[in-house]
Amino acid sequence: MIEQEKFDRLAPLACHWAKAQEEYILKHGTPLTPAQIADAKRVDVQNSARVRVLVVDRIPLPDDEELADAARRAQIITDASRGVAIGHGIIIRADSWQNRELLLHQLAHVAQCERSGGLESFVGEYLCDRRTCRDFSVGSLEDEARGLARKICAAAKATKQPA
Ligand SMILES: [Zn+2]
Repeated sequence: MIEQEKFDRLAPLACHWAKAQEEYILKHGTPLTPAQIADAKRVDVQNSARVRVLVVDRIPLPDDEELADAARRAQIITDASRGVAIGHGIIIRADSWQNRELLLHQLAHVAQCERSGGLESFVGEYLCDRRTCRDFSVGSLEDEARGLARKICAAAKATKQPA
């Protein structure tokens, strides 16, 4: 858990980093395919036309050492991360770009961000959620994203829909 003073100092940096990342992804990423747009609707994304997906070899960590370290420690972005959603931008690691559950998970975060009223308020909400969550939990926003993605994939398997 990150102490309050450090959290207050790093939160604006995280927000600044997230905004720059989203801008980059929206500029360089590709729009969702029709099947992915259908999945976006399943998790209640309102503006699926705005979503862009960028496939990368490795999920980028902030250049700021202290911020990168905090992201790793809090398990928000680690070297093992396969995907991350930043506003309407989604980054997926190249070896996982066909993983439907992973993309659904990220789309659920996009919907959460829309509900929150934008990237800035979502970053604040997300960090607060992670910071105050109890041990052995990843926070309610992560729980929701994981649960939704799992449920939709399980339902697809049960009805033998093509993934
Ligand atoms: Zn997540």
